[in-house]
Amino acid sequence: MRAGTVRPDGKADMVARVTPVDPFDLVIFGGTGDLARRRILPGLYRRFRDGHLPGDTRIVGAARSRLDSAAWRAETARALEAALPAPLLDAETRAAFLQRLSYVPLDVASPGRPSDTPDGWAALRARLHPGRVQAFHLSVAPDLFGPLAAELHRHGLAGDKARIVVEKPFGHDLASARTLNRTLARHFSEDQIYRIDHYLGKETVQNLMAVRFGNMLFEPLWKNQYIDHVQITVAETVGAGGRAAYYDRAGAMRDMVQNHLMQLLCLIAMEPPSRYEPDAVRDEKLKVIRALRPPAPGDIVRGQYRAGELGGIAVPGYGEDVGAPGSPTESFVALKLHIANWRWNGTPFYLRTGKRMGARHSEIVVRFKEPPHSIFEEDTGKGANELRIRLQPNEGIDLSVTIKAPGPGAMRLINVPLDMTFAEALGAGAETVPDAYERLIMDVIRGNQTLFMRGDEVEAAWSWTDSARAAWAKGRQSPAPYDAGSTGPDAASILMHRDGRRWRELSP
Ligand code: NAD
Repeated sequence: MRAGTVRPDGKADMVARVTPVDPFDLVIFGGTGDLARRRILPGLYRRFRDGHLPGDTRIVGAARSRLDSAAWRAETARALEAALPAPLLDAETRAAFLQRLSYVPLDVASPGRPSDTPDGWAALRARLHPGRVQAFHLSVAPDLFGPLAAELHRHGLAGDKARIVVEKPFGHDLASARTLNRTLARHFSEDQIYRIDHYLGKETVQNLMAVRFGNMLFEPLWKNQYIDHVQITVAETVGAGGRAAYYDRAGAMRDMVQNHLMQLLCLIAMEPPSRYEPDAVRDEKLKVIRALRPPAPGDIVRGQYRAGELGGIAVPGYGEDVGAPGSPTESFVALKLHIANWRWNGTPFYLRTGKRMGARHSEIVVRFKEPPHSIFEEDTGKGANELRIRLQPNEGIDLSVTIKAPGPGAMRLINVPLDMTFAEALGAGAETVPDAYERLIMDVIRGNQTLFMRGDEVEAAWSWTDSARAAWAKGRQSPAPYDAGSTGPDAASILMHRDGRRWRELSP
């Protein structure tokens, strides 16, 4: 948000200026898949509706299903209806958007499995416009990332104007991430590779940088001397059943901590970059990951949900959900982390994430220390300031400050939030806060990699994750059970209580 831009009528323009782009081609490999239907295509529709897909910009779906363009358009129309509020979908705009779409059946060959649509690549090439930015979104299973990059190169589609967007998971450990980086590097240069972590596209996450580095207020206090601790929570109510095979191999640590939570931690902990530019920001994030100590075994809590109740509905336990009773995979992890540098020495970072928790709730809480001396009577009440960055639901930032309880009575202190809820800040005309994918895809077209992970960053995050996993592998402890619909295992609360702290409550 570029708050404060002044329009000719003298009113503040609250909405960010958009950098226009030239017409481009976007190919969605996996165009019939879940991610394309739920996030990518609806996001593109919204950009189209706002006039950001100029001229004859084309969107090509490519996937294994043997559909024609008309059938894919019909499928996409249904997907838009499911994903977007009805007022956004007026018939004229929808028809004009669907006109931009076409489909190519294309089965990407992988080692040991030849393609059964050998003419797919020729058909795809024929749809593209040489000389334009050509973005290839790899929204397919991770084992196809490498083969797809190689095929793109082999078919002459890896030229200077080409960009590839790689979904998560980017590898499952350091060795596999390195191999994937090397494979991609054989066919594309680093500035053509966009490793997506959609958390970085969230409005609040970017606002975190704006709040930190655009104000004088916070940065002088942003250090161990004034910050008691930081807690990062990403709680989901969904179970692991939707992606059972993948999830049971990965677990919460690899699925969530290595990427999303690590990225949030980096943005909180990094030094101010010299400019808001891709490498300046990513260099600083990398330094944080490298300064992160592997957690001591006693600072890791792993959990696994058992059957319980969520919103009044009985839900099965993890083993039943993933079809693997007795599975040792964690669906919850809580960690206490230390960043070994001057700024953060002695300030712990607590992270927790889990499935089937009581509420869908993601936030970062930066808790400041209490004032060193209170001038008020002992029973007046007191509190520490907290900066809360809410990612979902209800994206926004609030800062709790201590004030006097209103009224003529004695001096009593209460904590109240100074709230900045983005949906409100954007005004009544803004239907919702923009989806992360909308911004990220447009950044790919603009060639801006600031909100994408660099290869060395991903490898550093895996290196740390591997060492943390090695620490618990030594203990051979099974994950602690927790009830579906709860806040996780008791041990996660104890992780905080033993330090005289507590997690903020999960609120729906
Ligand atoms: P999906 O299984 O729903 O869709 C997979 C798509 O790949 C389909 O369009 C299918 O036709 C296509 N496909 C499969 N084999 C192919 C081949 N050999 N050649 C060409 N196309 C082929 O998967 P999804 O949930 O959409 O996920 C896609 C990617 O995005 C995965 O890497 C996943 O990890 C990642 N991702 C998904 C989500 C999500 O919410 N779905 C979230 C984050 C990351």
